[in-house]
Amino acid sequence: MQIDDLTDGTLHNYVNGEWVPVDGDDGEAVVNPATGEQLAHVPFTDPHAVDDVVAVGDAAFEEWRNVAIEERIQPVFRLKELLEEHQEAMARVLVREHGKNLDEARGELRRGIENVEVACGAPRLMQDGFVENAAPGIDETAVRRPLGTFAAVTPFNFPGMIPLWFLPYAVATGNSFILKPSEQDPLTAQYLFHLIDEAGFPDGVLNLVHGGPDTVNALLDNEALAGVSFVGSTPVARHVYESAAATGMRVQAQGGAKNYVVVSDSADLEYAAEKTVSSSFACGGERCLANDIAVVVGDAYEPFVEAVLDAVDDQVVGDGLDPETDIGALITPEHRDRVVGHIEAGIEDGNELLRDGRDVDVPGEAYADGTFLGPTVFGEVDTDSRIAQEEIFGPVLGIARADDFDEAVAKLNATDFGNAASLFTARGAEASQFRNEAEVGNVGVNVGTAAPMAFFHFGGRKDSFFGDLHAQAEDVVRFYTDETVYIERWPDE
Ligand code: NAD
Repeated sequence: MQIDDLTDGTLHNYVNGEWVPVDGDDGEAVVNPATGEQLAHVPFTDPHAVDDVVAVGDAAFEEWRNVAIEERIQPVFRLKELLEEHQEAMARVLVREHGKNLDEARGELRRGIENVEVACGAPRLMQDGFVENAAPGIDETAVRRPLGTFAAVTPFNFPGMIPLWFLPYAVATGNSFILKPSEQDPLTAQYLFHLIDEAGFPDGVLNLVHGGPDTVNALLDNEALAGVSFVGSTPVARHVYESAAATGMRVQAQGGAKNYVVVSDSADLEYAAEKTVSSSFACGGERCLANDIAVVVGDAYEPFVEAVLDAVDDQVVGDGLDPETDIGALITPEHRDRVVGHIEAGIEDGNELLRDGRDVDVPGEAYADGTFLGPTVFGEVDTDSRIAQEEIFGPVLGIARADDFDEAVAKLNATDFGNAASLFTARGAEASQFRNEAEVGNVGVNVGTAAPMAFFHFGGRKDSFFGDLHAQAEDVVRFYTDETVYIERWPDE
């Protein structure tokens, strides 16, 4: 399918198994950031209409929760097949609304599909404990049961993958579900729901609601909602966590990030530089796992910087649909301006500007309004300065020095965030210390981007995560189910 097959120009909600016009006057344009072309208009669902969608989910839940689990996972299997079949076309839609390059879009969809595959294992994932003779003559059995209607509110940077961290698990475990995708690139979710429509889920089990902050706040205020899964920036994650808790629903809220990579003086520096550049600049740096500050130990600093700059100078900036492109356009002109503001702060704070992406030129008239930014690198970074502490979410890498390994680890732990960190080393003892001491949810050793596969949970620590059960796999199954324990005795007559 192409964009014209997904919409007549204005996006619709998908509620109770049908495409319906959005009830709401507000909205915004969905724009291709590489060209400035308007792709569609996304209206925002009015808060009063949100309650009706939750009621639709709840009505569907009453039957869906009692469908045999083997039957319940059949449409999830079909969704996986449909996603495989449409992966390439979907990736092209994703690139046009987001800006990242085609390989990155294909990769994120692959990661999303893997979650659908894992969710198909719900019959196993939902199994819980059984103990015979737990007390004299008493057997005890724990079972996982679905809870009702859940919502997920997702960010712009992975519009294909992040909804699938939640959606397949919520429904495979017997809940109803509402997706509120990012208003900045909602066409990929629109595509996903065309496939959901084909996959054969009962009406009302899966619903798509477009909107902005007011739509989200209406979900958070709805006492009938069983819970909300959120991924986005830290201030909004904190707000979602607090609001959902005040209403009394379950909540898991993933926030922003500031990820460090430590480069030991024992590391293969060419390899470390190549992986750091890829981690920092892929998806234009708009990744919660981007490692955008490297702390280099001792004499490794100079050769590492040289290797990084060699790799950076090979990066091609352009339209994500061009196979030559490494770094695509940033999501909006406002976001590009914000990233430029961070670069200016980096200069003001006295860090050494080694490469400046602000004056990048992408040839071609079609790209005159594109929100491009070239790779930017700072050296001799003071890790107390703003570029080393604040999330930038753009193609900006800072490189700092540390006298020894302990100092490097201390610097990474000094940020407010705790999503991910990586270490490049040839010493097992350093790897072991790093695994033990890095205060993050995802630790990479000789891996540039520490992204767990779908059968492990995904989540951070500190200001990168509010809650306890994370996205993906068993954690999210626990989030979407409640454990009931049956205590049984059958005395002789
Ligand atoms: P965002 O916080 O601006 O928006 C995320 C979602 O929240 C959107 O659906 C939006 O409509 C909604 N929203 C925005 N403001 C709101 C408000 N005031 N009240 C209620 N809802 C509101 O995030 P974004 O710019 O779309 O995404 C980028 C951010 O997401 C970055 O900070 C990035 O680190 C983070 N992120 C984190 C992870 C992770 O796993 N920790 C993964 C991906 C992205």
